[in-house]
Amino acid sequence: MGLIVQKFGGTSLANAEKIHRAARRAIRAKLDNNQVIVVVSAMDQSTDELVDLAYQITDRPSRREMDQLLATGEQVSIALMAMAIHHAGHDAISFTGGQIGLKTDRTYGRARIRDITERGRIVSLLKQGSIVIVAGFQGVDESFNITTLGRGGSDTTAVALAAAFKADVCEIYTDVDGIYSADPRLVPEARKLDHIFYDEMLELASLGAQVMHSRSIELGKNYNVRIHVRSSYTDAKGTDIVNVAGDLEQVIVRGAALKKNLARVELGRVPNRPGIASEIFRRVAEREIIVDDIIQVIHEGGTTADISFTIEGGDIEAARNIGHELSAEMPGMKVQVRDKMAKVSVVGVGMRTHTGVASRMFEALRQANVNIENISTSEIVISCVINQDDGDKALRAVHAAFELDQGPRNGDSK
Ligand code: ADP
Ligand code: ASP
Ligand code: MG
Repeated sequence: MGLIVQKFGGTSLANAEKIHRAARRAIRAKLDNNQVIVVVSAMDQSTDELVDLAYQITDRPSRREMDQLLATGEQVSIALMAMAIHHAGHDAISFTGGQIGLKTDRTYGRARIRDITERGRIVSLLKQGSIVIVAGFQGVDESFNITTLGRGGSDTTAVALAAAFKADVCEIYTDVDGIYSADPRLVPEARKLDHIFYDEMLELASLGAQVMHSRSIELGKNYNVRIHVRSSYTDAKGTDIVNVAGDLEQVIVRGAALKKNLARVELGRVPNRPGIASEIFRRVAEREIIVDDIIQVIHEGGTTADISFTIEGGDIEAARNIGHELSAEMPGMKVQVRDKMAKVSVVGVGMRTHTGVASRMFEALRQANVNIENISTSEIVISCVINQDDGDKALRAVHAAFELDQGPRNGDSK
């Protein structure tokens, strides 16, 4: 007998008919002689609606109460899913994150999973033939405060359960039929991938491909969980997220992604002496601002420097406040925060052994008349910060330049 974890995203549960359809999938897996754990997201846009509601009450909702509120979306889905399975004549029981002892740290809004304590109960329910339904995206901290794992976090719940119960596979059912070479909503000619490496998916997810929560890929990689991303609506094979597969190595660039809603903080004429960068970024870290790339340029003569860095749009206010503090302490320093920035990236493990990717990307952006504000690279990624207005155009240009619509060809070193 196998064990399968199936996760259904919000659009796959948008109404009663879709919930019944998801329930039928879970039942089918059970009738195929599997134990089945189902993880569900909140229905359709309901998490967004809850966020809106909170901001109708106050523009500064407490982070604890925000998690308390957002976790309710998934609680609706678990109960309805259990009812749908009962309606079809099968056993099912639903649980919130807290009820299965899904313990997290206490970072509201982006908590990390530490443990799942009520495993014994789940094992015995599965043995009795019950389909176990678990609310995605949520857990509890050591004091039983409800926490959430970050937007899109139900994927992470699913992979964590698959790891904890050593599932044969973690199936992610969504509104696309797999992982594509780029977001198919932005690049219509994007191609569905049969496989992708954990490292590549991890980068794409962090660089804007919202199809998988990046933490879920980290967990999948660490615990060797087989993840299969596929459509809720068809039986077509989707995309396997895997560790190694020999013939995949021939692809240099696997996919491209676009991350919007970024900002750049530019600190001009900062004194060039030891300790300044540490002083600036200590404040940034204290406010839990996530910093992407950092550039420092020393002026001629060496007494001053310009430092700039990229942050998420949601952290703009906090960054502005730091800017004000610093300019009060360092007269002569100029602070500018530019919003509406984006980052276009290409990702592929083949870059480890091939050169020329960066120049091809820059040429594609030049031809599309997109100005590059900053460049950052790592072993398997090249990213360019650009103006958000150029984002969609840049993504399509880069996708075309690497012929990602064509797929891998034998012996080709694209
Ligand atoms: P769910 O509600 O099922 O979790 P999400 O909205 O989180 O679904 O993720 C699916 C969406 O991710 C797709 O509709 C697609 O527009 C977007 N997406 C972004 N990048 C990619 C990609 N590389 N491949 C597939 N889908 C992508
Ligand atoms: N409902 C949550 C969200 O919309 C979690 C998820 O869908 O994975 O972000
Ligand atoms: Mg999602």
